[in-house]
Amino acid sequence: MNIKKDKVVEMHYTLKNDASEVIDTSKGQEPMPFLYGHGNIVPGLEKVLKGMKVGESCDASVAAKDGYGEYHADGVQKIPMEALQGISDLKVGMELQSQDESGNAFVVVVKEIGKDTVTVDGNHPLAGQTLHFNVSIENVRDATKDELEHGHVHSATCSH
Ligand code: ZN
Repeated sequence: MNIKKDKVVEMHYTLKNDASEVIDTSKGQEPMPFLYGHGNIVPGLEKVLKGMKVGESCDASVAAKDGYGEYHADGVQKIPMEALQGISDLKVGMELQSQDESGNAFVVVVKEIGKDTVTVDGNHPLAGQTLHFNVSIENVRDATKDELEHGHVHSATCSH
């Protein structure tokens, strides 16, 4: 069975950055299942996987624009310290939940803690980076009706 829209794919993957450092891998765990064609993985990788079969593997480099997006300098903002007073253990590297004007939640990372302001970065940690994937396809099956309605994969231990 080939990978195409509405198939559930289970794959092993290793993701490296330009410096060949491993950023993420499924090695030592179960293969990662996802519903193909529904934006559950970065667009550049969806493109590469199209048509692949069980047992196949490949190396793929995905440009930032087809990965987690370009890095936007205006995603870095300074917030007055008063706005963060509820947070007692504020430290660099901490992830904070924020909201845009329309109320959509997003995560920012604390970059710098000054005397009166805190600098946060709303870019995805992998924004601006070329992603180097090695993937191997372990299983391909039809999605269930529920999975298609929800737009994501259900497993034996987790269905919602
Ligand atoms: Zn669901």
